[in-house]
Amino acid sequence: MSEGRKVGILRKVLGNFYNSTEELLFFCPKCNHHKRKLSVNVGKNVFKCWICDYRGISIRKLIRNHGSFKDLAAWSELTSEVDISCFSADLFKEDQPWEEQKLELPKEYISLANRNSSMISLRARNYLASRGITKRDFVRWKIGYCETGEYGGRVIVPSFGKTGYANYFIARTFIGNWKKYMNPPAKRDIIFNELYLDFDKDLVIVEGVFDAIVSGPILYRYWDQRCERTLNCSKRLLKTIQQFILL
Ligand SMILES: [Zn+2]
Repeated sequence: MSEGRKVGILRKVLGNFYNSTEELLFFCPKCNHHKRKLSVNVGKNVFKCWICDYRGISIRKLIRNHGSFKDLAAWSELTSEVDISCFSADLFKEDQPWEEQKLELPKEYISLANRNSSMISLRARNYLASRGITKRDFVRWKIGYCETGEYGGRVIVPSFGKTGYANYFIARTFIGNWKKYMNPPAKRDIIFNELYLDFDKDLVIVEGVFDAIVSGPILYRYWDQRCERTLNCSKRLLKTIQQFILL
């Protein structure tokens, strides 16, 4: 019973997995190897990556390092591992040095900024057009798609971290897969496209990446109709609404 719930928490923290006899195989959050090489044995409470040798004799460590506080609380509820010593260890441990998450985009990723008129590319473009996303956005946000592979039939919107490396991506189906969004094997607590953010400027908080992409033009159009003639403010306004935080 609790094993199933543990697996649920692991899936939430590490993404989807393969079942291999007694072990579950996840993508490794440490080395981000493109194959699922992090082997987790829930029964024995151990984990190990076959590539980078990231390992531990308590899965709690995995949840603590890669999940949210809520995930850790849920995990602790299911195990007897939570005791005063590990509580105080968490509470008083020194801050981990900051390390930016880096992630490879799917190897099948094709940029939509390029000329490509395959049937599948047209479907991706049509889908994005239906969400109000234009060719200019493809270039600006480096939007692409995959024809094949794990993310085949999905639009890919990459996120770039402070140092310019991809640190996450959103994979949204355009062919009607039952699962609309597929998460990459990485932590979600990043600031989407932090590379482009300037915290000294105004920020608009939105719920999804597609809202973020279209919010500028939508607000622009709104103001365009209502006040451009009288206040001539639309261009200035558009400038201030150039960055978004994705929740
Ligand atoms: Zn690894």
